[in-house]
Amino acid sequence: MRLILQYVMLMLTLTLGAATAFHAQADDTDWQVWKVGGVEYVEVEDACKFYKYLPKQGRPGFKSYGSAQHTISVKANKQDFYVNNYRYILSYPIKEHNGKLLISAVDMKKLVDPVLRPTYNKQAGVITTVVIDAGHGGHDAGAVSPWAREKDCNLAVARKVRDKLKKAGISVVMTRDSDVFLTLGERVAIANKTPNCVFVSIHHNSGRRAAKGIETFTLAPHGTTSPFARTRRRESLAGNNQDSANIALATAIHSRAIRNTGAIDRGIQRARFSVLCTITRPAVLFEGGFVSSPEEGKLISTNAYREKLADSITQGILSYIATVQAKPLKQRNTHTGGGTIHGGGNRYRGSTRLR
Ligand SMILES: [Zn+2]
Repeated sequence: MRLILQYVMLMLTLTLGAATAFHAQADDTDWQVWKVGGVEYVEVEDACKFYKYLPKQGRPGFKSYGSAQHTISVKANKQDFYVNNYRYILSYPIKEHNGKLLISAVDMKKLVDPVLRPTYNKQAGVITTVVIDAGHGGHDAGAVSPWAREKDCNLAVARKVRDKLKKAGISVVMTRDSDVFLTLGERVAIANKTPNCVFVSIHHNSGRRAAKGIETFTLAPHGTTSPFARTRRRESLAGNNQDSANIALATAIHSRAIRNTGAIDRGIQRARFSVLCTITRPAVLFEGGFVSSPEEGKLISTNAYREKLADSITQGILSYIATVQAKPLKQRNTHTGGGTIHGGGNRYRGSTRLR
């Protein structure tokens, strides 16, 4: 898929126009590519052909397709995308053109494919260490409510994750292990000098009283921006070297957190937060709920809920590590059930971490 899309994009560099259609024959899937407003799109139908997905029952109001393992759900003009009912926020909304649903090529390549098929960026390599970053600290309390202070919740959950990972034989580096302040740059520097690590930053949210739920942020992919960017710049950042690993790690953690807590799924979202931009290792920023919510704020201050969050983060990290360290598949196409993929050999045994 990766190479196919690269090939397709190469063809598109020569094109102009508001909505130009192309055909690119690649193996048994004939991808029709559209360029709309400078953004390349492919047809959802072609993606389904590629993955051997058939229409099936799924999310109400959405069109759903899938296999025995996976269900994807899309809707015209929606930026929400669901895989097995876990929510992702696409870089570009789904478009409808001549009755066909289109998904952006960057979302196919940087979100859908790494989630559906574990085609990890080999640069992530072997993972031996996890850098746990408890957000805020010292004079920076983060979100504060009558029920909880964010900096305390972050540290409590971070310590639990540390203990659980150590029990599982994984080395852990804490950016802070007490109530001290570190700059965002200092946190990134710790991760960037730690060999073979992934970076998980733990935060809690604040918002309107009614706002609730869990969300996980990864860096906006190369060439895209996000609602959480300070500027609309789209330049590539150091963190973009890990685009595929980032979304895979986020999926592993987020899906477990939603399942284990039953919290509202605010989705895996894209951002250009400082800690995600200049980091050279796979990185996510996890928001374990809203301290500003009367219900969730009280829950987050309990040991039992913090255990659930820490268990989810730990299980997610361990699953991610197990998958990237598994031996490459000898036989191709386990997940797609057919069709030759150019540039195979960088796929790994293991689940897609969507349980
Ligand atoms: Zn925070």
